[in-house]
Parts: sequence; structure tokens; C-alpha cells
Amino acid sequence: MSEQENIATTSAPTVEDYLNPLARPELKPDSMKDLHSFEASETHQEKLGFPGELVDDWHDVAIAKMGDLLTKYRGFRVYLDSCVKCGACTDKCHYFLGTGDPKNMPVARQDLLRSVYRRYFTTGGKYFPKLVGARDLTEDVLGEWYNYFHQCSQCRRCSVYCPYGIDTAEISMAAREIMDTVGKGQKYCNEIIGKVYDVGNNLGFPTPALKATLESFEEDLEDETGLEIKLPLDKKGADILLVTPSADFVAEPHIDGFLGYAKVFHAAGANWTLSSVASEAANFGMFIGSYENMRKVSLRIREAALELGVKRIVFGECGHAWRVAYSFLNTLAGPFDFLDPRYPVPQHICEYTWDLIQKGELKFDKSRNDEYRLTYHDSCNVARATRMGDTPGGQFEIPRNILKATCNYYFDMEEDTIKEATVCCGGGGGLLTDDLMDLRVKGASPRMTALQNVRKEHGVTHMAAICAICKSQFAKVMPKYDFEMDNILSVHQMVSNAILLEGAKDPDDDDDDDDDDWIPPTPPPRPPRGSAA
Ligand code: SF4
Ligand code: SF4
Ligand code: SF4
Repeated sequence: MSEQENIATTSAPTVEDYLNPLARPELKPDSMKDLHSFEASETHQEKLGFPGELVDDWHDVAIAKMGDLLTKYRGFRVYLDSCVKCGACTDKCHYFLGTGDPKNMPVARQDLLRSVYRRYFTTGGKYFPKLVGARDLTEDVLGEWYNYFHQCSQCRRCSVYCPYGIDTAEISMAAREIMDTVGKGQKYCNEIIGKVYDVGNNLGFPTPALKATLESFEEDLEDETGLEIKLPLDKKGADILLVTPSADFVAEPHIDGFLGYAKVFHAAGANWTLSSVASEAANFGMFIGSYENMRKVSLRIREAALELGVKRIVFGECGHAWRVAYSFLNTLAGPFDFLDPRYPVPQHICEYTWDLIQKGELKFDKSRNDEYRLTYHDSCNVARATRMGDTPGGQFEIPRNILKATCNYYFDMEEDTIKEATVCCGGGGGLLTDDLMDLRVKGASPRMTALQNVRKEHGVTHMAAICAICKSQFAKVMPKYDFEMDNILSVHQMVSNAILLEGAKDPDDDDDDDDDDWIPPTPPPRPPRGSAA
């Protein structure tokens, strides 16, 4: 069959097969109003310094706290004052796109709090509440806050499109902080922060278990490579402290990424360590908007770095952890003047790896990743709240550069769903809990639709990410969208597969299956783009 005939008989997708990931949904008013994630218990609350249950004078405490935040954070007041209801943000939230509930439009979410702000803090709202859309803070309003401010992953996509830069994530953090202050906290976030205080990490993984896990990983690495690749814990005098999400020790595909970092450190001859005090990069203090808790979680990293005498701090693959590290770590736990000033404080593992690649210090056999046709999910916290490297957009390019250096088949998803415009995985911001599964599945639909489109267009089989929450969320929701749960990968998993380590045995030596015959799938011909909605 000639190539021409072959193309003609391929069942190429038609324009109708492509759905618009960002299509406006049919409106379903109040459809998500009853979705209520579990509330924190007295024990969870008190460990974080919050009242154990709703305090008797909760109304006055809430208004006083709002006043306190308005004084402390000037941006909060500006955001509440400056919305002109232009509507540019209305269809920018993945939760609105996935649920159709108008209260999940960013401007409507903001208005839940703005209406109360107007009532108590503006002259118009005090005297003519109806005229200015002001309302009293009642128990029903508090309940509405709880449900809808726990339907925001604080991804900041809406703020990119707002002409005034109003950041709904900040408003959602403030709302959660006010609720914690009156004794109405969320179980998922607050329980996890408590585990960090008690044990050192989100998963409550004690040091002996962590040590045993690292030892078993060392054995796996030796079986795979024939090399002694160490995963040191609490090694005094190490140069580098690696702070990584605890999911990297227990979950898939996180572990494969973690083993990739270890191989990079090994190839570079780095003297590195993990810490049992700071065995967690995540900082859920940000999700609940609590400066005090965010600071307490961050101070563990400073304590570990000083105790171990390291010169550098490197963060593993975690979206919001990198946001806290990049944007706030120095304020929360600095100054870090005891670290080596020649390196960024802190540094992302992708920056570390890419730097070595550029210097020619890492070598890869890309064909080892030929079973993957890959795309990349920009984690929103990395994309919209941080940077990497020393050029603008480094946070978009560095992870892609690493993937392109380690695999032969890489394809981006649609422009309006990646980089600064990326759509959230649907599980960030403290929503990665089973009691919010309905929201998580619906909120993932824009990303999943974009992934389905790139699969149709280029035969993409897998998606890589650099966020622990994104990876866990996708592993859970992908099967709902006709993907396998292992279609989500870690970026450093690609590094791990392809890296050539000196003296390592050939991975094919252990291969007793006939994968050698595998031929990458041929993508269907590219159909015209256009009215794909
Ligand atoms: S920050 Fe993200 S989740 Fe929250 S309203 Fe904006 S787009 Fe939606
Ligand atoms: S885009 Fe900004 S100004 Fe316009 S409605 Fe949304 S929040 Fe208000
Ligand atoms: S989990 Fe990932 S995609 Fe979702 S909000 Fe966090 S960084 Fe963004």
C-alpha cells in the first residue's frame, strides 16, 4: 500500500472529534452547593492553634479577623474594592467549566466574601446594603463560604485574565483563615498539618519507616543498575539538603521520579542528604492562608539545614511547595546567609538537572523512553506563581527541555491550556480528599479534554508533571476519562529511565520479554484546527 493510500484509509479524527477543553458549560445553578468536605475535629484544630469548634461569638470574631486581614494585607482590600464586574474571569475556572455552577465563577466566588466586606467595612454597605450588594454574615453565609471556598484550588488561572489582576486564590485563603479562626476548619488540610508537626511529613511516615524504605530503594537501584546508589538520611556535612514531598517515598509515579533525582545526584558525584526533620516539602499552611502555620512548617527546613550543615537546599517535584519555597521561604524562615551564595536559595530539582544537562555532565539514551509519546502538564503553582532559572518563562521551558533531552516523542497540548494559561489538575489547594471526589473529577475535565485532543492528534500516550498533588489527582481521575492510572508520569522518571550511569549494567540485560520489537504508534494525520468546539 502506498503512503498516500495508507493515509487515506487511516481513520483520522474529524474536527467534530475534538472537544474544546474550555467550552462554556450549560449553567446548573446551585448544583454544587451541598458539597461539604469533612470539617476538622477539635484535635485537628487545636494542634494548629485554632478553636476546637465554632465559637459562641463566631460572628464578631469573623468580622474582627476580616478587619485584621484588611489591615495586614493591603492587596486583600484592593482585590475586594477593585472588581468592575467586567466578566473576563467568569469562564476561566476549571471548576465552573466542569460543574456549570455559577458560584464557581471566580467573580461569584469572590462576591461571597466581598458582599460581607461591603456590609461591615464600607459606608455604602453600612447604610444602603441592598444597593451595593452587601449582606450580613449569617450562619447560612458561613456555610456557603465553607462549601465554595473549598471548591477553589487556588490555582490563580482567573487572575491571569482579570484586567485588575484580582487574585481569587488570595481571597480564598483569607476566607479559609477567617473560618479557621472561628473554629470551622477543614479536616483534610488541618489533619495533615498536624501530622507534619507530630512526625515531620504529611503522611505521618515515621523516621524508622522512612529509613527502611530508603534502604529498600537502594537495593532496587542496585538490582537495576549494578551500582551502589545511596539515598542518605540525616547525613551531617552533606552539601545538599533535598526537601521533597513525602509522596515521593510511597506513591506512584512519585517514587520513580525520586529515584531519578538520586541517579542525577549519583551521576554528578553530589554529596547530598534527606532530613527526617524536614521529610516533607509540602506546606499546607498556604492552603489555609495561615501565616503562622506556614511559617512553622517552613522553619523545619531551616532547622534541618542548620543541623546538617548543608550548603544548598534543593526542592523535589511539588507544585505548591515550590511556590512557598520560591516566593516566601526567605521571609518565613530566612535569612539563609549560612548557605553557599553561589547557588539559588532554594533551587528546584529541575534547575539542578537542567544545569547539569547544559554543562554536558549528564548523558541519556532517549530510546529507552520510546514506549512513551509524551506531553507535559504545567502545574499551576509552578506556572503562575514561581520561576525557574534566570530567564522569564524558565518555569515552562526547563521541565520541557528536560523531557526533550530524555525522550524522542514530545508534543504540547493546546496553547490556551498550557504554560501561563494552564488548567489545574482539579485536586490542588487542599482538595485532594475523597469527600470532594465529585468536584475533582469534574474540575479535571478541561485538562483531560486537552489530553484527549493531543492523544487524537499526535498519538500521545502519557503526560508528565512536576507536582505531587497533580500526580496523585491524575492517577485517580484519569480512569474516568478513558486513560489508565499509570498514564501520568514524573518528569524525573523520564530522566531515570534514560540516564547513562558510568559502570551501570545495560537495562536490557534483565529484559526477558520481547519489548525490543515494540514500534512506537504512528500518529494519525493532523486534521485542520478551527471550530473544534
Ligand atoms: S483560583 Fe483557580 S480554582 Fe480558584 S476561582 Fe480562580 S480559577 Fe477557580
Ligand atoms: S475579571 Fe476581574 S474585574 Fe472582571 S469580573 Fe473578574 S474579578 Fe472582576
Ligand atoms: S495540584 Fe498541581 S495543577 Fe492542581 S493546583 Fe496544585 S499545582 Fe496546580
